[in-house]
Amino acid sequence: MSDLQPVTTAIEFFSVKELACKGTGVVKLDPRFAEALPELRRAWGKGLTPNSICRTPEHNVKVGGNPNSLHMTENAKWPTIGTMAADISWRGWPVEEQLAFARVAWGMGWAIGLHNGFCHVDRRADLGLAELPQSVFLYGKDWANNFNRDDIVA
Ligand SMILES: [Zn+2]
Repeated sequence: MSDLQPVTTAIEFFSVKELACKGTGVVKLDPRFAEALPELRRAWGKGLTPNSICRTPEHNVKVGGNPNSLHMTENAKWPTIGTMAADISWRGWPVEEQLAFARVAWGMGWAIGLHNGFCHVDRRADLGLAELPQSVFLYGKDWANNFNRDDIVA
């Protein structure tokens, strides 16, 4: 992986402002994520509004993120080359549309986290680690269980 370099610019469909850490303005994307996110947007065929993509480790602490979050621009636990996760706002989407989006993302290899306000998507599977497989997770009480893993993966 030594030839992979982080992406620090805007990418197709997503501006620097949308990609950047909300606390520091840093943009540092893992190149596999930087390639996959526009592909997801293209496959979906409609606009996507990210709530959160890059987070520096310090900002991740401030916002209460998972300590090993794939949103982080630098990751002490996982061998990322930059951020590999996005939270896509979907509050107000019809449930069928949420499920359709999650299915498209799953089919393209994204891991998925279900929250009432957003869909977390990340490229963990690209790391090729047995302990970090593609998966679907739920944000506990912040997910109304309109659908779940089995509906997405089926
Ligand atoms: Zn997230």
